Amino acid sequence: MTNVVTAPHHTDAGNATELDALVIGAGFAGLYQLLCLRDRLGLSVKALEAADGVGGTWYWNRYPGARCDSESHVYWYTFSPELMREWEWSERYPGQAEILRYLNFAADKFDLKRDIQFNTRVTAAHYDAAANRWRVRTDTGENFSARFLITAVGCLSTANVPNIPGLQDFKGDWYHTGQWPHDGVDFTGKRVGMIGTGSTAIQAAPVIAAQAKHLTVFQRTANYSVPARNVPLTPEFKQYVKQNAAEIRALTHQTYNGMAFKVSEVKAVDTPSEEREKIYEQAWERGGLQFRASFQDMLVSQEANNTAADFIKRKIRSIVKDPETAAILSDIDHPYAAKRPPIDTDYFETFNRANVSLVNVKAAPIECISETGIRTTDAEYPVDIIVFATGFDAMTGPLLRMDIRGRDGVALKEVWEEGPRNYLGLQVAGFPNLFTITGPGSPSVLCNMPVAIEQHVDWITDCIRHMRAQGLERIEARPEAVEKWVVEVNEAAHRTLLPRATHSWYLGANIPGKPRVFMPYAGGLVRYREICQTVAAEGYEGFTLS
Ligand code: NAP
Repeated sequence: MTNVVTAPHHTDAGNATELDALVIGAGFAGLYQLLCLRDRLGLSVKALEAADGVGGTWYWNRYPGARCDSESHVYWYTFSPELMREWEWSERYPGQAEILRYLNFAADKFDLKRDIQFNTRVTAAHYDAAANRWRVRTDTGENFSARFLITAVGCLSTANVPNIPGLQDFKGDWYHTGQWPHDGVDFTGKRVGMIGTGSTAIQAAPVIAAQAKHLTVFQRTANYSVPARNVPLTPEFKQYVKQNAAEIRALTHQTYNGMAFKVSEVKAVDTPSEEREKIYEQAWERGGLQFRASFQDMLVSQEANNTAADFIKRKIRSIVKDPETAAILSDIDHPYAAKRPPIDTDYFETFNRANVSLVNVKAAPIECISETGIRTTDAEYPVDIIVFATGFDAMTGPLLRMDIRGRDGVALKEVWEEGPRNYLGLQVAGFPNLFTITGPGSPSVLCNMPVAIEQHVDWITDCIRHMRAQGLERIEARPEAVEKWVVEVNEAAHRTLLPRATHSWYLGANIPGKPRVFMPYAGGLVRYREICQTVAAEGYEGFTLS
């Protein structure tokens, strides 16, 4: 990206609120980081949050059907046994509203809101080397100054509304799923056009279809999906979770992606086809992301992956009654789970409804939006409402939309012009005392997020505790450590099939002009945790502390 922001430095700290640490964001990550720095380290700390409430992703993503794909018994904080005892989830997968209640419950329990300033978006953060402080400016015109700056801005929080000509002339209503109106949208009697077939659209389509007069789904890239099989939790299961919370937590620390299931040790390529089919069938019936753990080699061998891909494509064709629609839905061009695999409740079944149709915009791309609908190169589709389920400028987007500058006024945008470069996904060379929770270069989005978040927050907290104990005031990633880590991130990705989905947001490919770099660390959370622990144990190897 070349549009480097050249805003002036605002090192005028005169009217700034002075803090030990500033946290940006009050979602899962920001809340826990605030708690750790304030209550465990006793720092003066504040969190700034653009929304008028806590919740991050779960504050913004209120679209119909919004629900977590991680199972509820692993989608929560585990740092407080008391909190785990007090909270009880109601369903196998927690819905958006319930997660938001949970995060408010946690924030209230630990009295965090008094140190969160809502309705405040950070616009700029400049490092002042002479004072060794971060000068932070907000859209409310306020200034803050802090020794440590920690971004907890989420990975999928910068909505991507594609630049389709004519949108400004559209006479109906349009919404992006990641900026959904709080009082909901009434689809009754409306013709709805939804663009996108990612995890979001796959959750939203069945719910919108049940209410709308007609739903037209505009599909560019066909996608896999496996049934979620959501159910209310039984009293027995709730009891099991309460009694085994510590064991479940320990298990999430032992798995590749912070889930409570292990990847099978059996290889698909070594399994006779009949037996393999049985395993896939069982996984399909069980439902959920666990499907991708069916075989050890699914994400590393194209041959193994083909067996899963074929199975799901056959399922799609058996569910969807109209052969032409089934063919378009199952014409999938990438390995299974190389893009983030969605799970669904009746997604493919939705296309059997009389009020739902599918448009293949790979064959005939969207040309423009007219006053009354969506026009492709071969037809016009009149709609009253457009739903953009078109994803996010992932991982780097939320960081780069702030004007972050390190030493000598160098902008993060410049340093990351050809893709994110950092050490452990935690620190950028030239940006001392800035930590990025679940930033690019860390396992983050390839994991169950709360587990990845707790690992990062604990590491950052321990690091700052160590610095204070040693009388140290500055930590900075060394350029050579960054070089090595960039190679490690790249190699980890290429040991898998993940980069083969060339249009995925993991690669930044969904945003025009964004560098194509595989952003998350694919080496797994267990390995990553070990690396981070070793780095700390060896005196923060790869960092300069002073
Ligand atoms: P996404 O996976 O990026 O999907 C965006 C969809 O919009 C894709 O189908 C994309 O097509 C399409 N699209 C984008 N621009 C387009 C254009 N100009 N014309 C036509 N189609 C266009 O976004 P998402 O579904 O919001 O999901 C993002 C991530 O959020 C997920 O992968 C997941 O990590 C997370 N998420 C999680 C949950 C959960 O846990 N329950 C739910 C929702 C989302 P192409 O593929 O061709 O680009």
